[in-house]
Parts: sequence; structure tokens; C-alpha cells
Amino acid sequence: MADLTERFGTMVFSEDEMKRWLPKDVYKKLAKTIEEGEPLDLDVANAVAHAMKEWAMLHGATHYAHWFQPLSGITSEKHDSFLEPNQDGTAFTKFSGKALIKGESDASSFPNGGLRATFEARGYTVWDATSPAFIKDDVLCIPTAFCSYTGEALDKKTPLLRSMTALDVQAKRVLALFGKHPKKVVPNVGDEQEYFLIKKDAYRKRRDLVITGRTLFGAAPAKGQELEEHYFGAIRPTVSAYMKDLDDELWALGIPSKTKHNEVAPCQHELAPVYSELNEAVDNNLLIMEKMKLIASRHDLVCLLHEKPFEGINGSGKHNNWSLGTADENLLDPGDTPEENLQFIVFLTAVIEAVDKYQDLLRASVASCGNDHRLGADEAPPAIMSIFLGDQLTEVVEMIMDGEASVHATTDTLDLGAVVLPNLEQDNTDRNRTSPFAFTNNKFEFRAVGSEANVSDANMVLDTAVAQALRDFADALEGTPAGDFQEKALEYCAEHLRAHRRILFSGDGYSEAWHKEAEERGLFNLPTTAEALPQFVAPKNLALFAEMGVLTEAEAVCRYEVKLEKYNKLMNIEATTMVREARRTYRPVITAYATKVAKGLETIRAAGAEAVMQCEQDTLNELCCGITQINYCIKVLDELHKNAEAIVDGQAQAEVYAHKVAPAMAELRAAVDAMEEIVAADYWPVPTYDDILFYV
Ligand code: ADP
Ligand code: MG
Repeated sequence: MADLTERFGTMVFSEDEMKRWLPKDVYKKLAKTIEEGEPLDLDVANAVAHAMKEWAMLHGATHYAHWFQPLSGITSEKHDSFLEPNQDGTAFTKFSGKALIKGESDASSFPNGGLRATFEARGYTVWDATSPAFIKDDVLCIPTAFCSYTGEALDKKTPLLRSMTALDVQAKRVLALFGKHPKKVVPNVGDEQEYFLIKKDAYRKRRDLVITGRTLFGAAPAKGQELEEHYFGAIRPTVSAYMKDLDDELWALGIPSKTKHNEVAPCQHELAPVYSELNEAVDNNLLIMEKMKLIASRHDLVCLLHEKPFEGINGSGKHNNWSLGTADENLLDPGDTPEENLQFIVFLTAVIEAVDKYQDLLRASVASCGNDHRLGADEAPPAIMSIFLGDQLTEVVEMIMDGEASVHATTDTLDLGAVVLPNLEQDNTDRNRTSPFAFTNNKFEFRAVGSEANVSDANMVLDTAVAQALRDFADALEGTPAGDFQEKALEYCAEHLRAHRRILFSGDGYSEAWHKEAEERGLFNLPTTAEALPQFVAPKNLALFAEMGVLTEAEAVCRYEVKLEKYNKLMNIEATTMVREARRTYRPVITAYATKVAKGLETIRAAGAEAVMQCEQDTLNELCCGITQINYCIKVLDELHKNAEAIVDGQAQAEVYAHKVAPAMAELRAAVDAMEEIVAADYWPVPTYDDILFYV
């Protein structure tokens, strides 16, 4: 294998490759486009396309594809070969500037939430020059945005880029007040990706896993995760071979995969790359998820990215580490001098304000059918948004709120009393895993994001909300005489921190007491997707998107509708699968076993073995009760499900799914799982949790 550093990024048309392959003047123009968003003229585009093609073909590529993220969240691509036939039966290769910059795609088969008028099916993919092209499976992939004929965003990337622009503009206004004028302010993101890895043959025998990505049935294993022997444990050879393969492919794609380890649950693992600019981090995370699935298949494994594949065992999430930086500094780093401390406090205040004002929107941004099972259970944060700052920073923030911090008029320095900000150490308490939004050293960690999610949504909301808070600060402070700035800034922070104090919480997010207190504090508690999604289009949130130029009302509504429809469809699939499996897989087997026990009883009775007879009779009674209960639960679920299906209004339907159908599914599951405990093992028709979780 080539040297690690040589292997890195070999499949990426990076800045370095661009310099090598493009004429100087073309490179300069392209760099301007990348840095400042200036449109490319066709001559330049033609030259870039030609160079890209030559480079790609040298690396074995035969096709190109516009790679984009429709509202389904996963990535899409359509491959076109470079090949063009000549009249004489020979062929040549071609990739034009036009084909690089813009593609046309039938938008009607992608979710569009009614945005695209039926008479206009065309959608366009447009090159996002800020994200580098790469080769995947012999295809040159061009990262693109996807929009409708009339220019509305039909994808996840467009609003993400808009939110980054909003944040850049407002953060620069704030920094200007501190006498700083960086070229660019960008969110930096590192996503820790959790996943399960199980044997392919076990997976194939579980229709629920194959169809829905999670187990709809399954009694708790005799041994779960209580011994905590898996976390950071030695990685078994099967898994290790998989991880090596995965790393190798990710490195070639220029994805700086850094950390890999076993997670708490059996068969659960995590991968984290080094953080990068948000736009790239999102693309990278999508590629990581895709590669995780594909490479597993080569190792006779299956990678489960569902948020809750196994009930009663930790689910999978994505810890979305987010910070804000210029080329020179991380704006969420407290810094070494009092002036830097004040700047840090201003940005910290903006994040606190943003999360409190838009807690409902952040919750909505992570809402999905799968995440409903995870939030609030087994180490995942609850559905109530709150911020954890750690002991030291909480102390500082409280001092500021209480007006105990001041700016010395004579020295212009920030006096925080006994507390010295620059020495903020990693607070051990940041291991409080019940906090959905935790400050960890010099970044915030948003932990409510689901493992299967496209992280664009959560980051787009976060960027936009923080951009607005920074705008308000700049609006209020611009024009302040230089001599008063520090004092006024601190006053502003004190006032705004006080106004949003309720979002700060350091305790146990699972406790009953917190649920009660959160309600008293007026915090949102949106337990399911059905409650959370409508917040995406609440008037105050539509106003935020519109004001910051991130989503028009039509675009926001379209996103809400697509997510709602997806939730309803998934619930429909799960309920259908459950009823079918209960009827066709579990009940016949349980009945067959009951029949066997009944027949055995006759034999035993004839033999006069009284003692054995009693225990077999008890088992038979239990089996009969179980079958009756399963029958009853199937009937109830079936009926509720049919009623839900008949509801035309998507929101009303989601509510019925969440509050009527889901509990009926849980009842049916409990009835079947109870039988798993008493039916003879060789009768049970599918691999159990024990079989799946401990045999990789
Ligand atoms: P943990 O202790 O939670 O495992 P790590 O320090 O290992 O945290 O980092 C987890 C992720 O956070 C990695 O992807 C890492 O690159 C990323 N990260 C570290 N610093 C920052 C930062 N300043 N901004 C954004 N992400 C960061
Ligand atoms: Mg972490």
C-alpha cells in the first residue's frame, strides 16, 4: 500500500491537482469563483472540464455524474460516459464546460413537496465549485446544487450554502467591531458517525431489518451492554478488516478519517473524521455513510445506520461538532487575552440566544421516524433542547448575567473576577451524554442528530439562527464610540444571556424533574416527529429563514411536506411489515409449537408422569394466552393502521401514526417477544438478539 500521505486524496481533483492541470490564467479565474462565488465564463469552464476529464481518465474514470442531494436526504447521481462516437466507427472523449456547469434532470421523480408545478418537470443541477470533484467507482462526481426551473432549491445543499453566506456576512460585521477584517468566516464541522455492523446471513433472515432497517420484534438478549465491555474494547478481526478497508477508501477520497472505535452497545462502532468546512463536512459524511454500507457487503457484513436497530440497546447518532472560524482563529475558543475573552463571550451569547429562540426549529431539524425511537432513551439526549456549558463556563456566564463582570474603564480589560477564561479546561462533566447541545472546550456538540440523517438540515438551522443573533448584535453595536464598545458589548451580552437563561441546564436530561422544570421554564418538549415537524413552518421560523435569505416560505413548506410524507410512508411500511410478520412468521410457529406441546401432553398423560404434565400444561396455557393476545393485537393494529391510511391530511395522519399506531405496534411487539421467551429455541423462526449481536 502506498504511503499514507501519498494515498490521501488521490481520487480528488483538489486545489493542488487543479494547479497542476490548469493553465495559470484558468486556475486563477476558477480560484476566484471558488473563493468569491464569481460566475465562470464558458471558455474557462471548457478548459476546466477538459482538464478534469483528462485527470479523471488517467485515474480510470469512464463516466461523469452530477452528484447532488435531493430532499430525500441521500445522494443521487446519473452517469454519462465521456465517450462520443465518430461517423467512421471510432470514438473520442468529450466533457464540455456546459456539461460541467449545468445538468438537466427530470425533477418529477424526486420529492419536491408540491414545489414544482406539474407542467414543468425540469430540474437543474448546478456545479458547486466550492466542493471538489472526486472519482468514485470509475465515475467523476461533480458536487452540484439542485433547483427547479424557476430557481427554487430542491435540495439540501443550496440552503446550506445560503446559511453559510448569512453567517459569514453577520460574523464579519461583528468582527469588524473588534477591528478585525478576515476574508471569510466559516462553520467548521466534525461529525462522529455511529453505526452497527452485523453478519449478513443473520440480517437476511430478518425481514424486519431488511425492509425497515430496524428490528420490529425481538426479546432483550440475556446479556446486553450492561457489562460495558465493548466500549473502546479490542476490535475483532472481522470488524478490523472492514474498518481498514473503509479507511483506505475514505482516505483516497480525501476524507480525513481519524478515529475508529467500538461503541457501548455490542456490534456498535464509531468513525470520526477530522473536522472541515461545513459544506465539505456534509459531503464527506454522505460519502462515509455510502462507503460504510457498500464496503460491509464485501466483508459479508451489513452496516446498519438506523437510529434504533435494537430496542433496549443504545441507538446510533451523529455528534455534530460545530464551531465558527476564520483562517486565523476559532471564534469559540476563549482565547488568551481579555479582549479575546470578550469576543468569545459575544459569539457564545449569540449561540445561546440562537438555540433558545429556535429550540423548536433545531428539534424539527433532527426529527425523523428513526430518531423518535432514540431521543430520550439509552444514552441519547432527550427531545427537549437545552445547552450544557460545563461548570467553569457556567460560572462565568452567571457572573456576566448578574452584572459581576465589568470592563475596567482605565485598562479596557474584561474583569471576570476569580475566573480566568483562557484556562477553561476540558470539563469532565461534558461526558453528560444526556445534554443535546454541549459546549466541549472550543466547539458545540449537537448530539440530537440521528445517525442516518443528512447533517445539512441541523447545520443549516444552526447557522441561520446564529447569523440572526450576530446580526442583532451588530445592529445594536455598530456606531458605538470606540471607547464605549467593550462596556456596551458586555452589557448587551449580559442582557441577552439573562433573556435566554432558561436554555442552560447541566443536570440529568432523563429525569422526571427536568421534564417538569423544562415545562415550567417554557421550553419546548416535542417528543415525536409529528409534533416537531410543524415547527419547521411556524411563523417565527419562516420569518427567520426569509429574513436571513436561506429559505423562502414556499421552500420551507416544501421541506416540511417532504419530511411529513416520508414519516407517514415509513410508519405505513413498519405497520404493514409488523402485521405481516406476526401473521405469517411468528403466529404459525408459536401455534405449531403449542400443538407439539399439546401432543406431548397426551403422551405424557398416557405414561402417567404427573409432575411433568403440570409444567407442560402451564406452558401450553401460556402459549394459548400468548396466541390469543397476538391475535388481538394484530386486529387492533390492523384496524388503527387502516384508519390512519385513510386520512388525507398529512399532519393529521402523522399524529395518528405517532399516538395511535405506534403504541399498538409496541403492544404487538410485546406479545410476540413474550412468546420468544418460552417457545423452544429450535422452533423460533428468526435469529434472536443474542444470535445477531454476539456473533460478528
Ligand atoms: P470527543 O472527545 O467528543 O470524541 P474529539 O475531540 O475526538 O471529541 O472530536 C470529535 C470531533 O470533533 C472530530 O470530528 C473533531 O475533528 C471535531 N472537532 C474538534 N475540534 C473541533 C472544532 N473546533 N470545530 C469543529 N469540530 C471540531
Ligand atoms: Mg464527542
